[in-house]
Amino acid sequence: ARTVLISGCSSGIGLELAVQLARDPGQRYQVVATMRDLGKKGTLEAAAGEALGQTLTVAQLDVCSDESVAQCLRCIQGGEVDVLVNNAGVGLVGPLEGLSLAAMQKVFDTNFFGAVRLVKAVLPGMKRRRQGHIVVVSSVMGLQGVVFNEVYAASKFAMEGFFESLAVQLLQFNIFISLVEPGPVATEFEGKLLEQVSTAEFPGTDADTLNYFRNLYLPASRELFHSVGQSPQDVAKVIVKVIGSARPPLRRQTNTRYTPLIALKAMDPSGSLYVQTSHRLLFRWPRLLNLGLRCLACSCFRTPVWPQ
Ligand code: NAD
Repeated sequence: ARTVLISGCSSGIGLELAVQLARDPGQRYQVVATMRDLGKKGTLEAAAGEALGQTLTVAQLDVCSDESVAQCLRCIQGGEVDVLVNNAGVGLVGPLEGLSLAAMQKVFDTNFFGAVRLVKAVLPGMKRRRQGHIVVVSSVMGLQGVVFNEVYAASKFAMEGFFESLAVQLLQFNIFISLVEPGPVATEFEGKLLEQVSTAEFPGTDADTLNYFRNLYLPASRELFHSVGQSPQDVAKVIVKVIGSARPPLRRQTNTRYTPLIALKAMDPSGSLYVQTSHRLLFRWPRLLNLGLRCLACSCFRTPVWPQ
């Protein structure tokens, strides 16, 4: 069986992925499901059922700590990881002026440097064995900038650049990289963000920006999560396929509703088509956001949207 190490398994996509892999009918995987706080392992253990202690073990891992990563790898038999899934991540949303540098750095420390730290730890072994697969839970926000998500998107762009660069070298070692890019997923992620936002004051932010954020962006974002959002189960299913593939893809989007919006970037290398379309969707026709995503590829919608 291949040893799969997953970060951030106490909830959401990580939890679902750990359970689905552990329940693989062919028992192809030995899953090391890790989380920062073992006090939260109850939900995972309950969901794992009979797989617990058989094809799934739970271990402590804080992706922001060198010591925790070293300790976790010492506990893995032979210290060999065949598949690493960088899933742990945090979000940050709000007007830039009202967010602290410390909060922004925490996002990069977790999302970007957390993944880099794990890769540095498992890569020597993978190179020695001339095999391995590194899966990264990125986001559509790793491909396109999204208003009021500047720092989160930047952390995912950083991952995209880092892993695309690394993929070139690693082909030489028969090691594959896969960036999985979900759109909105109904997990605790959104709840945590909304909680952050409801208590945050965003000091130093002008009234116009606060108004756009609270009265345009937040309702539109909620609407998107509920209309086009996927379940963590569906996203995990896509990742299971990617892991099981003989020739894993470098990139895999999970939500076809986002493909047209992302394609706008490729269609117009100047970038204005994407920026103008996003602007219009939010600031002119916020109620059409959901419909807009559905129809972006269709010409009736395209005519007024296309920048002249
Ligand atoms: P989630 O909040 O349920 O899961 C994130 C997990 O990461 C949590 O279990 C959390 O405890 C863990 N984590 C945070 N900091 C950590 C640290 N320092 N060490 C170890 N674990 C840590 O949300 P989710 O939606 O399942 O998120 C999983 C991944 O999916 C994240 O990388 C996120 O950026 C990405 N993603 C989420 C969405 C979405 O809409 N929910 C969309 C695209 C991508």
